[in-house]
Amino acid sequence: MRKSTGKIPLGGGVGRNRTVNADGQTNVSERGLSLADRVLRLIWEEQQISRAEIARTAEMSRSTVSEIVDDLLKVGLIAEVGAGPSRGGRRPIVLEFQDTARGILGVDIGATHVSVVLTDLRGRELAWKEQRHPVRSDPQGTRALVMNLCDACLGSWHGGSSRLLSIGVAVPSPVDPVHPEWLSEVVIPNWQGRSELERLHQKYDAPVYVDNDANCGAIAEHWWGAGRGISNFVYVKLAYGIGAGYILNGEIYRGAGGAAGEFGHMPIDPRGETCVCGLKGCLATFVGTEALEARTRALRADFPDSAWSDDQPSLAALLDQALAGDALALKVVEEAADHLGTAVASWLNLMNPTMVVLGGGLTKLGDVLLTPIRNKVKACTLVSAAAMAKIRTSELGPRAVALGAATLALEAAFAEPSLFRRKARPEVR
Ligand SMILES: [Zn+2]
Repeated sequence: MRKSTGKIPLGGGVGRNRTVNADGQTNVSERGLSLADRVLRLIWEEQQISRAEIARTAEMSRSTVSEIVDDLLKVGLIAEVGAGPSRGGRRPIVLEFQDTARGILGVDIGATHVSVVLTDLRGRELAWKEQRHPVRSDPQGTRALVMNLCDACLGSWHGGSSRLLSIGVAVPSPVDPVHPEWLSEVVIPNWQGRSELERLHQKYDAPVYVDNDANCGAIAEHWWGAGRGISNFVYVKLAYGIGAGYILNGEIYRGAGGAAGEFGHMPIDPRGETCVCGLKGCLATFVGTEALEARTRALRADFPDSAWSDDQPSLAALLDQALAGDALALKVVEEAADHLGTAVASWLNLMNPTMVVLGGGLTKLGDVLLTPIRNKVKACTLVSAAAMAKIRTSELGPRAVALGAATLALEAAFAEPSLFRRKARPEVR
């Protein structure tokens, strides 16, 4: 294994590469795509294309294209797959992007689970492993579990770790672009601010990219799901906690310190319960998992006719009961939808996105959740442009965040194509 450089790069938009070195200094290089990058991206987008078509589309000389193509053939990223239709002369050789030439690991570290996906270079799932785990209280066990699940995914793939391109990790914490290895001590205090994800880099000798979980969900929906072709939308993750990822002009918007989209800490009621962040009445204190479970217990006495008699109501049971039409469960969901509607409306009035994509466990409720949110939003958005936003559920479902973590790493490879050209490494044991 090559000696580790200790670097954890942070994913950015295509055409931009940011890396953070061990001293915490950030190198941000904004640059246009080189000729080779443009050819690679074009073949990926078209999937099958001839050298002549590349030269025409990219407005490059045939000899430059041939030189770049030879290089890509050598590293196995593309292959020659027969002859295409003639445009008057010799039939051209068709080049095809090889989606399975490399694999990418996407890790979703949630509050109560770890999921790992191995994808090809087009976001298709090659392997999936997940396990429930008390992530918030057990950082060491979580780190070991991440490694185990990564090993299991790689072990089930014929490519093994030698063809691993890179690793993306979604964390349940804001991620500071200057210090992507740090975690919020407020949101997950037991981790004491350290993700120690550089261990993944050391073990697999592959670059590791880190971002907030809701940002990863937004990236996945933008590349492969409900947000395809949409430049301005927000993805709201309704899970243990509440977070949002904002795609602004086609790129994820992280804010100055990486804390953009902390939707769950939007103040709803200054006299409300104290939130994990120390403030009072944040949205998360009304619609986070613990809040919903507590609200169910509190309302029980008001619904003596409810057939639901669970002493320790869980979120899963709440969702099932609401779908079955239980009055108590529906009341809890209705209140949550009302608070969510208020928060979504504030966001629409501020940012005027085209669409709001709701993801996470709560979206299992479908229209039981969506209809009251839409009604509340309609009542709270006075500007018609804001009210026009479409509100829908995620297209990718519960695997969006892990897929988005892998996509973060794919996006980074397009921004830094030399990663693609690294030779396959010896197998990690
Ligand atoms: Zn809060």
